[in-house]
Amino acid sequence: MSFKPANNIQDLQYFGEFGGVNPSISDSSTYTFLSAKTMFDTFEGNADGCYLYSRHSSPSNLYLGEALAAMEGTETANVSSSGMGAITTTLMQLCHAGDHIVSSRTIYGGTFAFLKNFGPRLNIETSFVNITDLKQVEASINKNTKVIFCETVSNPLLEVADIKGLAKIAKKHQLKLIVDNTFSPLSISPKVLGADVVIHSLTKFINGSSDTVGGVVCGTQEFIDELRNVNDGAAMLFGSTMDSLRAASILKNLRTLHIRIQQHSKNAMYLAEKFEADGLKTVYPGLKSHPSHELYKSMINEQYGFGGMLTIDVGSSEKANELMELMQHKNLGYLAVSLGFYKTLFSAPGSSTSSEIPEKEQEAMGLTDGLIRFSIGLDADIERTYRTMHQCMVDLKILIKEPHLTS
Ligand SMILES: *Cc1c(COP(=O)(O)O)cnc(C)c1O
Repeated sequence: MSFKPANNIQDLQYFGEFGGVNPSISDSSTYTFLSAKTMFDTFEGNADGCYLYSRHSSPSNLYLGEALAAMEGTETANVSSSGMGAITTTLMQLCHAGDHIVSSRTIYGGTFAFLKNFGPRLNIETSFVNITDLKQVEASINKNTKVIFCETVSNPLLEVADIKGLAKIAKKHQLKLIVDNTFSPLSISPKVLGADVVIHSLTKFINGSSDTVGGVVCGTQEFIDELRNVNDGAAMLFGSTMDSLRAASILKNLRTLHIRIQQHSKNAMYLAEKFEADGLKTVYPGLKSHPSHELYKSMINEQYGFGGMLTIDVGSSEKANELMELMQHKNLGYLAVSLGFYKTLFSAPGSSTSSEIPEKEQEAMGLTDGLIRFSIGLDADIERTYRTMHQCMVDLKILIKEPHLTS
C-alpha cells in the first residue's frame, strides 16, 4: 500500500475554542500558570500541554506542525519563520565545531551560501558532491561527517536524489540524512523512503499564496524536543519563530495543497512535452528524457505527478531576459523568484536565486546563462498559455516552428 499524505492531512480533526471548525488562533506571547510549580516543570520540559512563551511553542504553531508531520509521516514537526530558519537550526543542532557535512552541490543558493561561507566560520566544513553519484557521496564521508544534506528535486537543475540509496549510506555510517523537500510536497515522502529529517520552505507550494515566508522541520519527537530545548535548542535560541497568525493562515492553505499540486503537475507536464517537441532544451522530471525519470517514478506518490518546476535553455542570458520580459508583458506570469504561486513565475537562476554560487562553479554544475526556471501556475487553460508562450518565442526568434497543438 502506498503512502497517502493528503489523506493524513484530511483526517486531522480540529475544534476551535467555541466549537469553530478551525482551531482558534493563539494571540499571546506568554501564558499564565495557576501554580508556580507548573511553571518550573514547564521550563524543565516536564509539563506536557502547558505553554510557556511563544518562541518555544504556541497552540497555532503546534496545529500547523501536527498537520505537516502528518503529511510527511514523521512523529512531529517544528515550524519556523522561514525555510532558512528551518535549515540553519537543523544543521546547527546536528553539527558542532570540527564536524563535516556532505551536501549536494546543486541546492538552494541560500543553503549553499550558508554551508560554504558560514560553516567554516564555525569550523564546520562541507564537501559539495554530485548527489546523483552515490559512490562519490560515500567516498566524501570522513570520520567527522555527521550529516548528508540534499534536496529531493534540486534547485534549479531539477536533479533527483535517490533517497533510499542515500538513506542506506547514512545508516551504514551512522549519519543523519536531511532532505529539503520544498520542490516536491505530497509527490515525494522522504521520511517513508528513509530520510531522518524532512525540511520545507513553506513559502513555496505549501502556502502557495506568495504572501509569507515560513519553514518546517519534520522529524522524531526526540529531535524536535532537542531543537526546542530551552538550554541548547537551536530553534529556541536562534529564535526563528513563526508568528501564530501566519501559522493559522498557512494551515488553511495547506488543506488545498493536494488539488493545487495536481494542477501544477498537470500544467507543467503539458508545457514540458510541448517545449521538448518544439526542440527546446527542456528539463522536467516527468519527461522520459530526464536522466532520473525512472528514479522519480519509483519514489512518487502517484496522482501528484512530477511537480510544477521545469527549466528551458534559450541559449544566452540576453535571450532569456528578453523572453521573460515579453512573457510578463503578455501576462503569462511574473518575472520573479520563488515558486508555488497560482501564476507562473520565471527567473534566470544564474543571475538571481543561484547568484551566491560563483560563476565557475555554476558552469561546472551545468547552470548555464540561458537557463530559465519556471514555476508553472494553476492556469485553467494551459493550451492558451502554451500558444501565447510559443508566439513569444517565435517573435524573439527562439523558435521558428508552428506550435504543437493537438486540437
Ligand atoms: C526557497 C527555498 C529555501 C529557503 O526558504 P525561505 O522560506 O526563503 O527561507 C530553501 N530550500 C529551497 C529548495 C527553496 O526553494
